[in-house]
Amino acid sequence: MDDLMQFLRARLDETATKARTHRQASASWYYDDAAGEIRDETNSGTVAFVPSAADAQHIAEHDPARILAEVDAKEVLLRVHGPAHDCAADRDGVDCATEEEPCLVLRLLALPYALHPAHRPEWAPNLV
Ligand SMILES: [Zn+2]
Repeated sequence: MDDLMQFLRARLDETATKARTHRQASASWYYDDAAGEIRDETNSGTVAFVPSAADAQHIAEHDPARILAEVDAKEVLLRVHGPAHDCAADRDGVDCATEEEPCLVLRLLALPYALHPAHRPEWAPNLV
């Protein structure tokens, strides 16, 4: 489980660093449909011109404030599901952690990074 925990902490650190070092002063973005661009909420500066409203709304939804809030929430999950925890076993017929497999919550948190070169196939949860 330590390797999986280190993998997840590294991914969260990378994501938080990218969000904190974004060039826009404001952490929050919105889509200005009249201008066809994503704007910074604090100074109304342009973050990006995006020709598709659907694409722009998707990008604006992933502003630094939201990403950092998501990182914070996932860091709490890492603490709660750390090495010394005792997950409630057998939820809906799924064991959270076994001797052979790390905690299901941690494996689910790693699933979006399945294509990362450091991700291990054995971490993939069996969701069937
Ligand atoms: Zn757990």
